Amino acid sequence: MPTPRHRVLIVGGGNAGISLAAKLLRGGCPDVALVEPKDTHHYRPLLSYVAGGAATLDDLTRPQADVVPRGVHLYADRVTSVDPHSAVVHLAGGEKVAYGDLVLCPGSEVDWDAVPGLAEAMATPHASTSYLPEHAPDAWRMLSGLTAGRAVFAISDRHVPCSPVGLKPLFLAADHWRAAGVLDDLTVDLLVEGPRLAGTADADRELRAAAEGYGVRILPGTALTSVDAPDRTVRVRTPEGTTTIHYDALFVAPPHRAPAWVMAGGLDGEGTDGFVDVDPLTLQHRRFPRVWALGDVATVDTSPSGGALRKQVPVVAHNIPAALVGKPLRHYDGYTVAPVTTSRSELLLAEHARDGHPEPTIPFPDLGRPRRSLYWFDRHLEPQVYWHRLLRGKVS
Ligand SMILES: Cc1cc2nc3c(=O)[nH]c(=O)nc-3n(C[C@H](O)[C@H](O)[C@H](O)COP(=O)(O)OP(=O)(O)OC[C@H]3O[C@@H](n4cnc5c(N)ncnc54)[C@H](O)[C@@H]3O)c2cc1C
Repeated sequence: MPTPRHRVLIVGGGNAGISLAAKLLRGGCPDVALVEPKDTHHYRPLLSYVAGGAATLDDLTRPQADVVPRGVHLYADRVTSVDPHSAVVHLAGGEKVAYGDLVLCPGSEVDWDAVPGLAEAMATPHASTSYLPEHAPDAWRMLSGLTAGRAVFAISDRHVPCSPVGLKPLFLAADHWRAAGVLDDLTVDLLVEGPRLAGTADADRELRAAAEGYGVRILPGTALTSVDAPDRTVRVRTPEGTTTIHYDALFVAPPHRAPAWVMAGGLDGEGTDGFVDVDPLTLQHRRFPRVWALGDVATVDTSPSGGALRKQVPVVAHNIPAALVGKPLRHYDGYTVAPVTTSRSELLLAEHARDGHPEPTIPFPDLGRPRRSLYWFDRHLEPQVYWHRLLRGKVS
């Protein structure tokens, strides 16, 4: 069998891969192929609402076949290795596929090994996460069933996609507990590994105020180091030392890592922690110019998010053909966004550039303040924009 070859081969049919495939086709690219093993596609931002009791998995799931753009050659398989020297990828089913340009967007994966005992805890009814579809409904069962005791929310800053959204289930649950009259019977601890709750000082201030309004104890600079599931305790590292906390409910935004085959193929770089070593401005690989990466797997020097992809996709779609004919490449400015609920009816946006400066989409009104209209936009309108515009390459 001769090795099939495609003008552009995309690895991963998530937010990045599907949006880019559609955008390339719209731009006239004659031959786009995609490797994606899953037969369902998730709009992942709604997972936070599932974990907070405000959405169901049905609301965020579509058959993958419905979102793969017509005209794209789909390999319903998984990439196991990449050889950038011979411009070939290997699939789990044994097939080899050659490429002109390769775009890597397989996302990142939960790193259960980073916190000993965490995976075991996830198998109990007392621990959960919004970060995987198989756990998100359990998170709401656990949180809504809690009427007394201690809830611990732990937000890692190790490559977590859009990490401030890990706070959404906390605020949705706290508002629920207040309405149910049990908030005063609960102790709620928020362990945040990074220094802030969100990427801008204003959003951080708003979110701290909202958390304190629910009586949440905030522990910044605090990371889970291990979990003892039978004992229902977590060992944590704080700026002052290590300590043990008992929990009745443990919610985590867990550490993430890059797929192992990225490093095995030599596609990472010094200090990239196994993630794909692209120029954060052009999204072109630093050593293999026909390799590109975007989304959660790419080292773009800003917080990964779906909102960031709205800016990254047009850059890669422009730069692939531009690089071939020596035209100037476009730059991604590092824009990213985290929409965070502060109750079951209000939400704020933390929008910022790579250097951490606020980069609001519109100057007025201030979208960094909690608003009902933003909650409605994020929960109800944004999913429609995702299915009908972003995944169809209608971003510029
Ligand atoms: C719970 C949660 C809530 C979020 N909320 C928000 C939000 O409110 N706003 C926001 O902007 N962002 C949010 N994000 C972040 C956003 O969803 C991600 O940044 C975005 O999905 C990244 O897209 P991606 O295509 O890089 O990765 P993914 O969406 O993870 O897609 C990767 C795809 O690659 C496939 N794949 C993996 N390995 C292979 C392989 N070996 N071969 C072939 N294919 C492979 C996977 O099956 C998957 O389909 C959230 C994320 C999560 C998890």
